[in-house]
Parts: sequence; C-alpha cells; structure tokens
Amino acid sequence: MTPNVRPLIAGNWKMNGLTASLAEMRAIRDGANGPDIAVCPPATLLSQAAALLKGSAVALGAQDCAVQASGAFTGDISAEMLKDAGCVYVIVGHSERRAGHNETDAIVMAKAEAALRAGLTPIVCVGETRAEREAGEALAVVSGQVRGSLPDGLAVVAYEPIWAIGTGLTPTPQDVAEMHKMLRDLLVSLRGAEGAKTRLLYGGSVKPANARELLGLPHVDGALVGGASLKAQEFLAIAAALA
Ligand code: PEP
Repeated sequence: MTPNVRPLIAGNWKMNGLTASLAEMRAIRDGANGPDIAVCPPATLLSQAAALLKGSAVALGAQDCAVQASGAFTGDISAEMLKDAGCVYVIVGHSERRAGHNETDAIVMAKAEAALRAGLTPIVCVGETRAEREAGEALAVVSGQVRGSLPDGLAVVAYEPIWAIGTGLTPTPQDVAEMHKMLRDLLVSLRGAEGAKTRLLYGGSVKPANARELLGLPHVDGALVGGASLKAQEFLAIAAALA
C-alpha cells in the first residue's frame, strides 16, 4: 500500500450477470466493511444495481464509455449517461477492449477525459503481453501506456498484465512491486503531489488465496478483480485481506 492512500477493491463483472446475479451484488453490499469497494456490472444491470447500492458503502462503476456526450452513436453509452445512471467509476482501456475493439492509447485517453468531463473517476487499465514481459519490455510498455492514456485529473490506474487476466497466473511479488514502484515514480514525475496519491491497483487472477500477499506490496493500493468478483464471498474475502 501507499501511505495516506485509501485502498480500493473494484470488481469487473465483464459480460456476466443477469437479474438473478443481483443477489451477489446484494451480498457484497451487505458484507462490505472496510476498504472502498466498487462493482462494475454490465450496462444492462446498472440501473437496478444503482437502486440496490443506493446509500451503501459500495460504489457503482461501468466497464467502458463513449468519447462523445450524446448523438448518433448507435449502441454506445456516454459517460454522462453512466453518471446519470448512478455510476461513480468507469473502467477504460481494459485489455479486452484494447485488443478486441482496437482501442489505442489515444482512444483510451479520450474516454478517460470523457469520464472526467461527466464527473466520473476513470479506472485506466495498462499492462503488458506475455511476449513483452519475456522480452524484458514490460516496464517500458506500461510506462508508454500511462503516458499515452492517463488524463490530467483524478483517476485510478490499474496494472493488469494481460497474460495474468483470467488465467490463474500472476507475476511474482517482486515483478508486481517493481512495476508499481515504476508507476509511482512515473506518476510523481508527471503529476507531482497528485501522482503521489493516485491509487494504483493490481489486477490479474486476484483470489482470496493470493490477495494478502499482492495487496501487501508497496504501492499496491487495491485490486481490480474479474472472475472472483462474481461471487460475493470471494470478493469480500479479497477485500478483507486488506485488513
Ligand atoms: C479483469 O478482467 O480485470 C481481471 C483482472 O480478471 P481476473 O481477475 O479474472 O483475472
């Protein structure tokens, strides 16, 4: 953790969840007790989730937003609409969108700026491929992504090695610590005092079994959790590892 930075545990439900899944959301709400927690369900559940989480300690987030505020963009959802639906956070630049929807750093930056324009906090995802790590390029790749996709303003950065997402694999604690130290130094050099308190999440196969070790590393200020956030018991156990 970083001294004086409030940790955040954020859940990314990805394209999972029907109305029945709100039972897990309710259990997360009822069990939340400690660090800041956010859950990012699919867009179809946002309104129901907002009603369920209203007045609770659990914040609502979305998984993507459009660059534009409104207009002829069939199928897209603007940051303003997400704010109106009750969101506080929006994930931008997840590797599944960078790869599957050809999102470049410039597009991710524009989406993060749209989030700020609407009064949302963007969770900006960065991370290297396995080939890039094996080639010794991980630090340079991630540093380039931060420079290219992190806007000025209040944002959260999530370091998510692509090869660790949904695979059960995680980098060594030393590799995570090295990456987060590089990120902290970079943020301080780019943004001064604001960079010193920017929350740096780790994401990629975080589970109750490895959460304590990963969340205990310097400059790891929480986690972005995919698969394990779908089950309230697992998600809350990860949050409890911060205690
Ligand atoms: C993610 O999708 O952001 C993620 C970290 O997934 P998982 O925890 O399942 O690896």
